[in-house]
Amino acid sequence: MERIEELIRALTLEEKIGMIHGCGFFRTEGVKRLGIPPLVFSDGPMGVRNELENGAWIPAGNDADFVSYLPSGGALAASWNRSLAEEIGRVLGEEARGRGKDMILSPGVNIKRSPLCGRNFEYMSEDPYLTGELAVRVIRGIQTADVAACVKHFALNSQETERFWVDSEADECALREIYLPAFEKAVKEGGTLSLMGAYNRYHGEHCCESSELLDEILRDEWGYDGTVISDWGAVHNTEKAARCSLDVEMSGENNFDDYCLANPLKEAVLRGEIDEAQIDEKVRRILKMMYRLHMLGGGKRKAGAYNTPEHRERTLEAARESVVLLKNDRGVLPLSEDTAGRVLVVGDNAVRRHAPGGGSAEIKALYEISPLMGIKMLLGGNAEVDFVQGYIADDCEEKAERVSNLQDNLRREAVAHAAFYDTVIFIGGQNHSQDTEGRDRKDMKLPYRQDELLAELLKARPDTVVVMVSGSPVEMPWAEHAGTLLWQWYAGMEGGYALAEVLFGRVSPSGRLPETFPVSLSDCPAHCIGDFGGEKQVHYREGLFVGYRYFTSKKVPVLFPFGFGLSYTEFAFENLCVTVEEAGSAPRVRVSLDVTNTGARDGKEVVQIYVGKDGAGEALPALELKGFEKVSLAPGETKRVELLLTEEAFRHFSKEQKRFAVEPGGYTVFAGKSAQELLAKESFTL
Ligand code: BGC
Repeated sequence: MERIEELIRALTLEEKIGMIHGCGFFRTEGVKRLGIPPLVFSDGPMGVRNELENGAWIPAGNDADFVSYLPSGGALAASWNRSLAEEIGRVLGEEARGRGKDMILSPGVNIKRSPLCGRNFEYMSEDPYLTGELAVRVIRGIQTADVAACVKHFALNSQETERFWVDSEADECALREIYLPAFEKAVKEGGTLSLMGAYNRYHGEHCCESSELLDEILRDEWGYDGTVISDWGAVHNTEKAARCSLDVEMSGENNFDDYCLANPLKEAVLRGEIDEAQIDEKVRRILKMMYRLHMLGGGKRKAGAYNTPEHRERTLEAARESVVLLKNDRGVLPLSEDTAGRVLVVGDNAVRRHAPGGGSAEIKALYEISPLMGIKMLLGGNAEVDFVQGYIADDCEEKAERVSNLQDNLRREAVAHAAFYDTVIFIGGQNHSQDTEGRDRKDMKLPYRQDELLAELLKARPDTVVVMVSGSPVEMPWAEHAGTLLWQWYAGMEGGYALAEVLFGRVSPSGRLPETFPVSLSDCPAHCIGDFGGEKQVHYREGLFVGYRYFTSKKVPVLFPFGFGLSYTEFAFENLCVTVEEAGSAPRVRVSLDVTNTGARDGKEVVQIYVGKDGAGEALPALELKGFEKVSLAPGETKRVELLLTEEAFRHFSKEQKRFAVEPGGYTVFAGKSAQELLAKESFTL
């Protein structure tokens, strides 16, 4: 574009340098004399972060930065609902723009390789297809508001331990088939205007300095012409960062002039060591993005809006669809608003507000409805709803001894009380002391001695409704004694009310697990085949066998499989029809089936289409998710679901050919309700 070239010619070296590094924690320098505004960023995936001081990690003390607190990546993924993902993206974009931002640092699409990764709550799934499909919608939604999405963290950033330095070693097939596809889709289908380079290293190079990742794969192969922003403090070497196609260096340190792409770069250019043309390339991409966002060129830019009633409505819808019903053996759920009688609510997560935690995803929420408040709001003033704490969520180790005695007392109190109520609801799980940026969990156990409490509570009251609020799975040694089990992710400001609506049957649960819930940590492939949490290097030795790809192929029992979730109604799948439209190099396979709501209530089912290559033996996963559709059905209603599987559904990466290829041979398409409940299948040859 000629105007961009004119601007580049008019810019001085200092001005260009100002545009490619942070001059505040969340902004770059603009060039006033040429009408170029600064770029203003904000975290993050669950809403727009509060305003911080320009050069200090302290709140700016602003009263106008409360926002809508949106469902986490894990919650959104559990909805398996593309249009909802786009709506939540739009809400996030509008809120960001409403707060005057140009770029929102979201969505996070790293693969949940181990349940222990501290940031799993921000990420979506263990599956690249589900992650990619939803990320594309979130990005498109964000960018309708004239705000850039910044998909993160590219790439292989699936642990927090030593995240600034660790070298993630994955073989090329795993890289291409598991860890990169969501980014590729974000670029090619989502049209993301920005992408964040990760902290960690790959092949020994820091991701933000990796020519292999940024130049060869991202730019040359995928044709990406948006901007690349470094994670905060992820750049270490001026020359490497200047030469590869990273565009903006950000950091959490306030010595802005000392950043690699600040004075050190300027001096290197003046010494003739780095060609100024390298800087022009970066500035060109930034200016192009600014034009696309209507920050330049005089076009009208959308104003955005935050804290609107409509945003709260969308947040509630997403929260409703993210709740996963895992067990309802005794038919205790839904509870009746009229006959629930005296209700006892037990557990810290019934009253805990999660918005202000988790690291960079923290939110200064306009409000957050806790589960206890949600239940009271729904039942109204005639119901008797009492609360006992049950356990103390205190992470201070020095206090452990004292807390331990308290814990005993609270446990006894809860168990004793339970006998006197008609309905007992336990609401526990984790909080952002476990689900947090910057560190991984040490194990998969429930914190604060909740296992003991649950064992006793379930003994006293086997009809207890157990609700887990958590961003990552936990071991549940008491699961066989719990007849009723609901799972809620960090679901945003309306989460507590959405949960109440599900508990009391105003909404039939329709969330499905976006990740496997293993029986124990030692069953997980990242732990029993590969390694996790290494400080210098981690080896993704499990290769393609991540999550259900491993559990289904190796027939390892799980607590709850990927894709699983119950409803208050029942669904039948019939008349699966698979037609190969074109064989050969570009296969197109049409899949259709009838889904019927055979129960007595409205509900939503997620039809999941998995594909397996016949006779692949140990080389490939037994099945992989390649399509899904969420359908809403009234009692007795049937809908025909139709999906088109293209080459993407059948291809695998060939190390020898260094590209994706579809191998001729037999394939099987499965239609299922989870990775382990496959109701229909059809085989064919390509
Ligand atoms: C995180 C990013 C975040 C950035 C800015 C980093 O520590 O890894 O996800 O966007 O900080 O807060």
